[in-house]
Amino acid sequence: MTAVDVSHVAKSFGAANVLSDITTHFEVGSFTSLLGPSGSGKTTLLRIIAGFVTPDRGTVAIGGRDVTDVPVWARHIGMVFQSYALFPHMSVAGNVGFGLAQRGIRGDQARSEVARALEMVRLAGFGDRKPKQLSGGQQQRVALARAIVTRPSVLLLDEPLSALDRRLRQEMQVELLRIQRESGLTTIFVTHDQEEALSLSDKVAILDRGRIVQMGAPAEVYERPTTRFAAEFLGDTN
Ligand code: ADP
Repeated sequence: MTAVDVSHVAKSFGAANVLSDITTHFEVGSFTSLLGPSGSGKTTLLRIIAGFVTPDRGTVAIGGRDVTDVPVWARHIGMVFQSYALFPHMSVAGNVGFGLAQRGIRGDQARSEVARALEMVRLAGFGDRKPKQLSGGQQQRVALARAIVTRPSVLLLDEPLSALDRRLRQEMQVELLRIQRESGLTTIFVTHDQEEALSLSDKVAILDRGRIVQMGAPAEVYERPTTRFAAEFLGDTN
């Protein structure tokens, strides 16, 4: 069963052809990394799935429904970006519950959903704090709780760990994988870090200049790259 279907998607910005005829799908409950060098089109593809960018051609379906013309807020997705941008004046619980309030979920139901999300990211009891009272890693967990509190069907992550130092980054990778496994959320993860992609994912999609040049299980992609580009890009770590 597929959670997200991308069909013949193309996008240019002015004369720059950023994505060329991307057709791919993401299975329900899978963790897929979009891996490629800077400028290969990873973020643009993620933003098209999220609804922030409209493709010039092609369609996006989520849960079998064509959402190409559906606005971001109605797509039932959760998102975390590199700069987590929590509201500084709001408590942790306020930040996490923000999306619920927007959907008209308030009172006891909102409180119990916020508690569930905070528990999932191991920040139970931190609801009354302000973001600045938390470490960078904890703030990123709050961003994750905020993304999953509405129980989305798809989680989109754009280099969410790249601002963290190495130790914290490794700790958060383990946490992210645990949360993904526990929640069963279909996750699409943008990274330019081969090790991160290969260690976290069920599948890796390698992008080169706006095309997916290979997509498969990490071992398959690593051991049997089908293009010179994939071989050289993955070989960078060796
Ligand atoms: P990646 O995530 O792989 O680094 P991006 O999708 O961010 O790649 O960008 C791919 C290319 O598209 C880059 O050359 C970038 O400068 C260009 N690009 C992305 N967004 C815009 C935009 N809104 N306007 C103009 N060019 C853009």
